[in-house]
Amino acid sequence: MIIAEKKPIEEIIREVEAYDRILVLGCNECVTVCEAGGKKEVEVLASVLRMNFMAQDREKTIDERTLERQCDHEYLEEIRDVIDQYDAVISLACGVGVQFAAEKYMTTPVLPGVNTVCLGANEDRGLWTERCQACGSCVLARTGGICPVSRCAKRVLNGPCGGSTNGKCEISKDTDCAWQLIIDRLKALGKMDDYEIVAPVKDWSTDRAGGPRTVTREDVKI
Ligand code: SF4
Ligand code: SF4
Repeated sequence: MIIAEKKPIEEIIREVEAYDRILVLGCNECVTVCEAGGKKEVEVLASVLRMNFMAQDREKTIDERTLERQCDHEYLEEIRDVIDQYDAVISLACGVGVQFAAEKYMTTPVLPGVNTVCLGANEDRGLWTERCQACGSCVLARTGGICPVSRCAKRVLNGPCGGSTNGKCEISKDTDCAWQLIIDRLKALGKMDDYEIVAPVKDWSTDRAGGPRTVTREDVKI
């Protein structure tokens, strides 16, 4: 899922300070699961903003709404009837949702209330870690299901660099070396022969380097 974290409240206050009628808009999907931008976080943020402006004797309208998804036309349409009632929207969706809302409602500022961090997994209560950088050409089949693109600091594709020490990456003794993890998994799978095969040059044109990407599915369009 997409992992995001709440922006510091001071930053959000600066973003919305100039507006009198503000809609705090949450999203029921990834940001709810990672506890950054769901209904609960919308309620908390709206309350904090109200208290902040009340303490300054400033009258503001701060309303709350949480959509099923902000990255979907269908659900974003649900606020079309009310969008003109607001001077600004503070969106707690990921960067995709913020942009999609901004594109749809051209004359209303849509401001980000979270920082979108990565594609990751929930490892433990309160711990989310990166697993994928959406490179567009997945190599997991030959790396034991462990991603060297997102989990190796140098994105090396043919074994560890010289900085790998005692299973840890040279960037931090707390960070596992992705290639150590890959080797351990290949051993467990009895597939160490795969490790000896030199990987072909990866096609990075499918990654961000190739510019913004699109996926078109004619079978879905029908
Ligand atoms: S190889 Fe690419 S698509 Fe596969 S998990 Fe890694 S970043 Fe994601
Ligand atoms: S130590 Fe391992 S994870 Fe870190 S940069 Fe080198 S190969 Fe990649």
